[in-house]
Amino acid sequence: MKRQLAALLLTIFALSLTACGETAAESETRTVYAMDTVMNLTVYGENAAAALEKELHTLDEAVLSRTAEGSELYALNTSNGETVECGADDILPALIETALTISDATEGAFDPTLAPVLDAWGFTKDERRVPSADELKELLSHTGCGKVALEKTADGWTVTLLDGAQLDLGGIAKGYAADLLRAQLEKEGVTSATLDLGGDVFVMGRKTDGSDWRIAVKDPVDTESYLGVVSAADKFVVTSGVYERYFEENGVRYHHILDPKTGCPAESGLCENGAWADALSTACFVLGPDGALALRDDLADQGTNFELILVTDDGRVLYTDGLADAFTPNDESGYTYEALA
Ligand code: AMP
Ligand code: MG
Repeated sequence: MKRQLAALLLTIFALSLTACGETAAESETRTVYAMDTVMNLTVYGENAAAALEKELHTLDEAVLSRTAEGSELYALNTSNGETVECGADDILPALIETALTISDATEGAFDPTLAPVLDAWGFTKDERRVPSADELKELLSHTGCGKVALEKTADGWTVTLLDGAQLDLGGIAKGYAADLLRAQLEKEGVTSATLDLGGDVFVMGRKTDGSDWRIAVKDPVDTESYLGVVSAADKFVVTSGVYERYFEENGVRYHHILDPKTGCPAESGLCENGAWADALSTACFVLGPDGALALRDDLADQGTNFELILVTDDGRVLYTDGLADAFTPNDESGYTYEALA
């Protein structure tokens, strides 16, 4: 199997998509701009409007934005190695803990400490450039989860970033925000909703007519087209792809998902937890098809199951057996489809 991917999508109980569900029931939609992306949140049922109004604060930039001066993450990243104290219910340390766990589970393919390297490529500030090999080597000496000391204390947490480390949570934050939104909507008694956080989608419950949601998976090469449709209920559908953020220099395309081993763009799904879905999709992109499928087997042995749709640069769409019934290929897309046994 070719290692290089034009784009690889994946997910865990959930992929990039547009939930296409029609329903006559009462519904309320909000379009918000948060986390650098346009989000569409639609809630069905009697208290739809009230429930949605209460929950939007979850997407508050004040916590997880890396660039907004004054956010909690910004303060941590500029703490110069000093220990930062956090409350027991704070979102930031809980998300860091999840990110470290997933980094471990993916043997470092998902690495939340790549902030300085992403900055050097200019992805953070839209000033794109290709760093030199020496620069990348130096920057990589400040990355790795071993440089993040997270401890639970009697009152909450402490976090210390050692040796110039800085965190970038862009590969997991949207999935985590979807988890929080979902939990809060459930508390309000909502049973049916679609939360599209800029292509990472959570479909809550079923459509009000009792049928599954149908989610169109975007073609990573021709984003006007789609690869197929996934049917799902209570699932996250998350994608990672090269089409989202990239630049070209001297005919080479550089995209925003980095291989933590080299600091360069990686050559190279469906889940019930958004943070895991989001982070695993990023990790699988780094690993390429063979590595992604091996990780899927390993995690299945440990009780974490997810399905994948992989798009290779030679025009094939591979999808795992758990999607055999749920995924309907788009016959007009021009791709060759292979269901993996
Ligand atoms: P996603 O679209 O969820 O795959 O996330 C991509 C974002 O994750 C990038 O824009 C970076 O902010 C961050 N990122 C890039 N490479 C990695 C990596 N190897 N591990 C974790 N996060 C990464
Ligand atoms: Mg991700």
